[in-house]
Amino acid sequence: MSEPLRKFWGWGNEGEGPSAEQQKGIARTLAERFGAKDLEPVPPPRIEDVELPAPRLSPPAALEAICSREPYDRAGHTYGKSFRDIVRGHAGDFAPAPDLVAFPRDEAEVAALLDWCSDANAAAIPYGGGSSVVGGVEAPPGDAYAGAVSIDLGRLDRVLEIDRSSRAARIQAGVLGPELEGQLRPHGLTLRHFPQSFEFSTLGGWIATRSGGHYATTYTHIEDFLESLRAVTPRGVIESRRLPGSGAGPSPDRMFAGSEGTLGIITEAWMRLQDRPTYRAQASLRFPGEGGFLAGARVVREISQAGLHPANCRLLDAREAETSGAAAGDAAVLIVGFESADHPLDPWMDRALEIARDGGGEAPEGAGRTKHSDAAPREGAAGAWRSAFLGMPYLRDALVCMGVISETFETAITWDRFEAFHGEVMAATTDAVKRVCGGGQVACRFTHVYPDGPAPYYSVIAPGRRGSLLEMWAEVKAAASEALIQGGGTITHHHAVGRDHRPGYDQQRPPLFAEALRAAKRSLDPASILNPGVLIDP
Ligand SMILES: Cc1cc2nc3c(=O)[nH]c(=O)nc-3n(C[C@H](O)[C@H](O)[C@H](O)COP(=O)(O)OP(=O)(O)OC[C@H]3O[C@@H](n4cnc5c(N)ncnc54)[C@H](O)[C@@H]3O)c2cc1C
Repeated sequence: MSEPLRKFWGWGNEGEGPSAEQQKGIARTLAERFGAKDLEPVPPPRIEDVELPAPRLSPPAALEAICSREPYDRAGHTYGKSFRDIVRGHAGDFAPAPDLVAFPRDEAEVAALLDWCSDANAAAIPYGGGSSVVGGVEAPPGDAYAGAVSIDLGRLDRVLEIDRSSRAARIQAGVLGPELEGQLRPHGLTLRHFPQSFEFSTLGGWIATRSGGHYATTYTHIEDFLESLRAVTPRGVIESRRLPGSGAGPSPDRMFAGSEGTLGIITEAWMRLQDRPTYRAQASLRFPGEGGFLAGARVVREISQAGLHPANCRLLDAREAETSGAAAGDAAVLIVGFESADHPLDPWMDRALEIARDGGGEAPEGAGRTKHSDAAPREGAAGAWRSAFLGMPYLRDALVCMGVISETFETAITWDRFEAFHGEVMAATTDAVKRVCGGGQVACRFTHVYPDGPAPYYSVIAPGRRGSLLEMWAEVKAAASEALIQGGGTITHHHAVGRDHRPGYDQQRPPLFAEALRAAKRSLDPASILNPGVLIDP
């Protein structure tokens, strides 16, 4: 069977996503809800019709075999997967295409590529799965560089070593989520890191962006699983020492986690693993009425501070619950879940349900009993939410074809400021959506919760005007970002900074820290070739 072909302009593989019949249903819903018109899908471009700028670079003979100038490769590596990226790809606009795409097979080839890029003044852009939603894999504009090389780590895709007694594995950075789990499964182990982009994102990309998995609490951030790493910089290789913990000064691992390809290329890492969970308990609770979301938020705070450590504690507002099919639009929904490879979970679930019911949550009697099985549960509101979660990126491509705006943004804020902050963010975004699009929907869910605050995640769906989608979204996003920063939140909780979040990030980070970061970059990347313009200016 031949490998499925990745879309060069959008999410996932060719031929996947909503069927023509399903698209008609979506159009009907959008017309009813927002009065959206003119939703006939415009087909995406064909690669043979795409015009790309002529490549400005030629690789040295020794690297010729791993470098491609093929239009399919160049177009497919031009953008990440934000709404802005999909709109440009769908319009056949691949103006910032890299001049070459390199596919190194080992660390020596990564080093050789960086040497050549440093000598040739070529921008070197590390590329994992290309699922960045912040312009993290896009070549720099202008002519400060002689060209740009996208360095795709996809051939470094093996689990190299497993240390069963420490429950850790040495893993190459270019491995995609499903391939990684597939190599760990025979050992009864899992990295258990499941960002929504899991299918098409890589270990190296997760580390470079400090990604957050879909579990809402406890072990869900990639840096918590990172035991040590190896990275190739233009100055040489950095390898940290494998340790379960260390107080020996600032952590080299933490310096690379979140460095977004600006300091070096992560080639492999020792990752902490877990036994595959077999006990699961899951319940969903309704919080009906106007104040349902805030009542649910108070319950989430109490659960997160009770020391119960649920694997999931995901609150959806009424609109989000309706869109995902978890409820009918009349109630916020809280999904609480516990997992273990070792023990039944009823006492923890009982206490969480008690807190939730005391706070106004409704759940049927007998909800949330522990089940013991190798397979994850797929039924009920939680199952509906999960399949909507995985189908969303495909749906977004379809919406772009229909001229509809569909994008998300996320943040985090401490509990003391949450209610006022959320009110301001919702008001600023809803106003902007109304002003710019004439109508639409802004919905919220918590993707992660901590004892000291939640990470609210906002989704916007609104009718667009074909040909003006980018400008329309830019105006909504600017209003939302302003509200996040002015309200004291972060410009991003787990989507990273890239190019797109630079204005917010530059306001948020302390100026002296920016100087220290630039000094670190100068030391590791003296020619400033690594991902210029992402995270910091060279
Ligand atoms: C539909 C969708 C859902 C998403 N859901 C989540 C989510 O649940 N949680 C979350 O955290 N994020 C999410 N994201 C954002 C994105 O998937 C993450 O940022 C992810 O970690 C990127 O991994 P990647 O392999 O695709 O990296 P890429 O997109 O290829 O690269 C991301 C950044 O890391 C750098 N980079 C990549 N590989 C390396 C390497 N080996 N060494 C050094 N630098 C490198 C790149 O230069 C770039 O700056 C989502 C994105 C989409 C489109």
